[in-house]
Amino acid sequence: MIEDSPFVAAAPVLVPMPAERPYTYAVPAGMRVVPGSIVRVPLGPRQVAGIVWDGAVEKVDAKKLRSIEQVFDCPPIGRAMRRFVDWIAQYTLSPPGMVARMLLRAPEAFDPEPWIEGLQRTLARPDRVTDARMRVLETAEGGLAWTRSGLAHAAGVSSTVIDGLKAQGVFETVMIPPRPVVAAPDPGYAQPSLMPDQRDAAEMLRSNVAAGAFGVTLLDGVTGSGKTEVYFEAVSAALDRGKQVLILLPEIALTHAFLERFQERFGAKPAEWHSDLPPRMRERVWRQVAEGGVRVVAGARSALFLPFRELGLIVVDEEHDPAYKQEDRVFYNARDMAVVRGHIGGFPVVLASATPSVESRVNASQGRYSRAVLSARFAEAALPDLKTIDMRRAPPARGGFLSPVLLGHMRQTLEKKEQSLLFLNRRGYAPLTLCRVCGHRFGCPVCSAWLVEHRFRGQLVCHHCGHNERRPEACPECGTLDHLVACGPGVERIAEEVVAHFPDARTIVLSSDLMGGVRRLRLELEAIANGEADIVIGTQLVAKGHNFPNMTLVGVVDADLGLANGDPRAAERTFQLLSQVTGRAGRTGKKSLGLLQTFQPDHPVMRAIVSGDAEAFYEREIAERERAVLPPFGRLAGVIVSAATRAEAEGHARGLRRAAPQAADLFVLGPAEAPLSLIGGRHRFRLLIQGERRADIQGFIRAMLAEGPKLRGSVRVQVDIDPQSF
Ligand code: ADP
Ligand code: ZN
Repeated sequence: MIEDSPFVAAAPVLVPMPAERPYTYAVPAGMRVVPGSIVRVPLGPRQVAGIVWDGAVEKVDAKKLRSIEQVFDCPPIGRAMRRFVDWIAQYTLSPPGMVARMLLRAPEAFDPEPWIEGLQRTLARPDRVTDARMRVLETAEGGLAWTRSGLAHAAGVSSTVIDGLKAQGVFETVMIPPRPVVAAPDPGYAQPSLMPDQRDAAEMLRSNVAAGAFGVTLLDGVTGSGKTEVYFEAVSAALDRGKQVLILLPEIALTHAFLERFQERFGAKPAEWHSDLPPRMRERVWRQVAEGGVRVVAGARSALFLPFRELGLIVVDEEHDPAYKQEDRVFYNARDMAVVRGHIGGFPVVLASATPSVESRVNASQGRYSRAVLSARFAEAALPDLKTIDMRRAPPARGGFLSPVLLGHMRQTLEKKEQSLLFLNRRGYAPLTLCRVCGHRFGCPVCSAWLVEHRFRGQLVCHHCGHNERRPEACPECGTLDHLVACGPGVERIAEEVVAHFPDARTIVLSSDLMGGVRRLRLELEAIANGEADIVIGTQLVAKGHNFPNMTLVGVVDADLGLANGDPRAAERTFQLLSQVTGRAGRTGKKSLGLLQTFQPDHPVMRAIVSGDAEAFYEREIAERERAVLPPFGRLAGVIVSAATRAEAEGHARGLRRAAPQAADLFVLGPAEAPLSLIGGRHRFRLLIQGERRADIQGFIRAMLAEGPKLRGSVRVQVDIDPQSF
């Protein structure tokens, strides 16, 4: 240990690259580092920021030893966070350096924020007092320092007025500290009066927070039951105790409405954290979280890696959402890692959902988590009536995808001046284009996937690698002109059909590839909430969390879509998605309806949705998982081998399989072609490792990788513990 010892000669430093362990660096005389210090070190020809780590240093040849160049003037990364990094590295079988990299994602933040130039009133008087000058003097009366533009803006004058006063010595230049990114939230700002079951749930969360110990609560309540109001009470309790709070949200499109809601409750916004933040803002948030100025962060999964000083609560909203899984470099599920972070930090974690994951339900029923249930919608709001439309009996008109029943309800909804939502989880115009003459299908040249037509853009696009090409007039195979046909619907095609039926309705298409990005998306969502659209056609982006007060009809264009892929999680996912999307209807007491277009109205998922009997559905799913020894009753991991050629990938995967150790409680399936066998020109094979709940799956895979063939040529191996699809 080198803690608090200024005399060490060397320190272990974790650098943000695929390093299996910290590297050793010399600490120059007079430099003081402690575990967690952020330092600048030479690495090959470069300089990088790293973190002084725990444990003993590895012996290095003194001649090769290089020195730490600089210790940043930045609060050290806390012990809990360092243990968290080590834990994730162990669990996901990732190099700790790559986990640390996620923590070091705001490089400019390691230096203190510069103070900025400001102006302060002196005792001098101006020679002449005009109206404009008067306003400035009044504004600056309190003696606070102002920035030049801030003062001009507040006084409603042009900056030259300020310059004139400064020239006369009425203002002098002073340096002022950077402003906080957000104001401090006030835990008692606007306490709601809670309904009895809300109050019980809130009490439970409040007392967990007050106890200040680790524990997980599943907050399980139907859409619109007030889960947010309830977990805000836990946030309030944590703030009362002087703790920082992290609220994870699955989708950045959701944060905007959330920030406002938070402000109504706490009088100030939480800091936002997601990939769409401007770099300067990222750095300020990172720094102020480290310094403790920011008390509450609302963010995407990467917010787990912010350097909190005194984190005392994590809330994971929509805990079942697949967006919490990162499948890139370090494969992790932020929901599960939030629980780990709580365990290490010794504080409570709240998982909220209207449709909890099977994993969380099992954890609750086996007593590992507590569970708080909200079973009714708040106030007069009622859940929508839910019905299936049997597409075998009520087929759409030729060339269409909307059944007459659905169209009839849309017409009635329009007449009542209420809103409809059509949900289809498919971007673009059509998922497949083919030539009617020769049968040629347009596929991606580098992926095993069909190209999706995007008609607004006039392109055929691969949704896996982004490859795009112009949609030709003639078939590239047989040369016939004008015989290409679009097969199946995407949201753009549904919009076309809607416009044909309801030319006067205001129609909006919402999907993640909307031109104009997140900003545009937010504006559109606001417009919908304000009633500026009659019919909304959207992908899963519209399914989550939004509050559209005038929306009374939700039509699911293809309720069977997610069921077809053979994944054991398909039923759970479809159930969650359909519950969420139909939950957009009827948020304000108006009578509302959800219609599911399906070819299998008797499927257990459809039955569960229509009957509202979620319990029966969960029981069945859970029994099924238990029987098949699938998570959470068993362990599962994927090992994906990719390479430039099919032979290389398959050969390496077979080599790994042969190297698998003998174990009584674990076995290997495959290798088989991965669900997407070619992405971006790389061929992919997958091994699945399955076993008992208590099995050491990490140890097994580690041994397999160590004994297996060495990585050669273009071969890459990725480990996915607890894969999403299997
Ligand atoms: P959920 O997160 O469960 O979907 P919300 O927390 O969004 O539900 O609540 C749904 C709506 O009901 C929101 O508009 C919310 O402000 C309102 N609401 C819920 N509980 C209360 C309460 N106790 N007092 C006032 N409004 C409430
Ligand atoms: Zn592609």
